[in-house]
Amino acid sequence: MDADVVISGAGPTGLLLASELALAGVRVRVLERRLARHQESRALTLHPRSIEIMDLRGIADRFLELGRTVPGWHFAGLPQRLDFSALRTRHGYCLFLEQARVERVLEERVRELGVEISYGHELLAVAQDEDGVEVTVRAPGGESGLRAAYVVGCDGGRSRVRDIAGIGFPGTDATMTSMLGDFMDIDHDAIAAVGEDAPVLIVPLESGATRLVVTDPLRMRVPASEPVTFEEFRDALVRMAGSSFGIAEPRWLSRFGNATRLAEAYRVGRVLLAGDAAHIHFPAAGQGLNTGLQDAMNLGWKLAAEINGWAPAGLLDRYHTERHAVGRTVTANTQAQTLLLELTLLPDYQQPVTALRELMNDLLQIPEVNSHLAALVSALGTSYPSSDDDPLVGARMPDIPSTATDGRRLRVSELLQTGRFAYLDFTGAQEGAAAVAAGWGDRVEVVAGDPPSAAGDLVEVLVRPDGHVAWVRRRHETPDVAARESALRTWAGAPRQAAVTT
Ligand SMILES: Cc1cc2nc3c(=O)[nH]c(=O)nc-3n(C[C@H](O)[C@H](O)[C@H](O)COP(=O)(O)OP(=O)(O)OC[C@H]3O[C@@H](n4cnc5c(N)ncnc54)[C@H](O)[C@@H]3O)c2cc1C
Repeated sequence: MDADVVISGAGPTGLLLASELALAGVRVRVLERRLARHQESRALTLHPRSIEIMDLRGIADRFLELGRTVPGWHFAGLPQRLDFSALRTRHGYCLFLEQARVERVLEERVRELGVEISYGHELLAVAQDEDGVEVTVRAPGGESGLRAAYVVGCDGGRSRVRDIAGIGFPGTDATMTSMLGDFMDIDHDAIAAVGEDAPVLIVPLESGATRLVVTDPLRMRVPASEPVTFEEFRDALVRMAGSSFGIAEPRWLSRFGNATRLAEAYRVGRVLLAGDAAHIHFPAAGQGLNTGLQDAMNLGWKLAAEINGWAPAGLLDRYHTERHAVGRTVTANTQAQTLLLELTLLPDYQQPVTALRELMNDLLQIPEVNSHLAALVSALGTSYPSSDDDPLVGARMPDIPSTATDGRRLRVSELLQTGRFAYLDFTGAQEGAAAVAAGWGDRVEVVAGDPPSAAGDLVEVLVRPDGHVAWVRRRHETPDVAARESALRTWAGAPRQAAVTT
């Protein structure tokens, strides 16, 4: 084998997946068709769960020091903001950070972990057999073949891996497109004059440029594939905002639409999909990049478990079960948001859609409604299906601090930095800790200590490498060695030794 895993695409999804695999000792090769990283940024935001997962690996600060935080975010562009600060997290804010910078930080991390990124290398073909995949690559020096155990298509919305694997991508074509332009020279007085209510989104970028986004009813049926001209962009601004804002010399002009599609399968044998290769939608409330990062976090440890030989039966298939359901939720909420935007722009609907927006805006002022949508958009509400009745199982583990018996003060996020499971034993007796360490100590970080007040009635918790809860026992439940062992076997595979007893 030339590598254990070939990743096609060095966008944010491919880069995070590469680092997750490398952390688990998997040999990864990343192929990237482009000759160098993009300088332009489509995405501008990282949401709370994305920052949390970076925190789980000890690299959140690298992103935080480059961006700026705001306490909330929008849903469908409604004036009443989603309040991320009210959510139970240490990262209750939206981080404004351009995609190019996110990719730069992730690429640094990938290189630190010793992974090679092959720029100018395009995946042309994949053939899979029982033992692995044969990948055909076009590079500046010509075509060549690569043998690996798995290939992951992180190759964007037009994924070649998805096409070659014959994975359906059902959904809807675009009914609406918007235009974006990045400009260095802007008339800031004109921008200040139109204020926040302008039907043009105005975002200052860290690079010093300003991003303008406009949806013009006269141009919104133009297909996304048609290039934007400067004149077209300027005319749209004047029509929609009454000013051209003094724009000149665009750095970048682009058109994007609301085509919405979700891959039928995230896995076919040894071929997997993640990120935009698996789901596309309008960037309503900025969720695409964030969802791709969370796909990568979910897939990395499962695929590594397969390669490292300890994956329990069905673990890798849970990637599809868990993330396809998230993809369905994200594509649905972006469609709902986009419809609201599209109707706003159609003259026949102006009165009823204004009424609908006002109604929705009122609803967003109800704290429960606000936090429901904030949990959805921030992805903090993502909970994976489970047969356990405990609401914490499947959900993300809150980042509670604890004090270990040796006096170390630890947060859950610190325990997960090596990419292994974490088992928290607040029983006081440390029996669970000893048994788990004996059987699964190579895969599980074990901590025994006094229950912190933030743990409530939790006495035992098994946390997956991606920070979601695999199993819990609460104080009112009698100790159950068999249930704990069954959870460990289900998620972390067979123990090192034949039997685990306490
Ligand atoms: C205007 C706009 C604004 C957006 N704003 C936000 C936002 O604020 N927040 C957010 O979360 N999301 C946002 N998004 C969505 C976000 O940009 C994407 O979801 C994100 O880029 C997906 O990352 P990815 O790594 O899955 O795919 P990509 O970023 O598309 O990366 C795929 C990579 O694969 C490479 N590739 C393709 N084919 C091959 C091949 N055959 N061989 C080798 N390499 C290949 C490509 O060159 C590319 O580098 C926005 C999108 C748009 C259009």
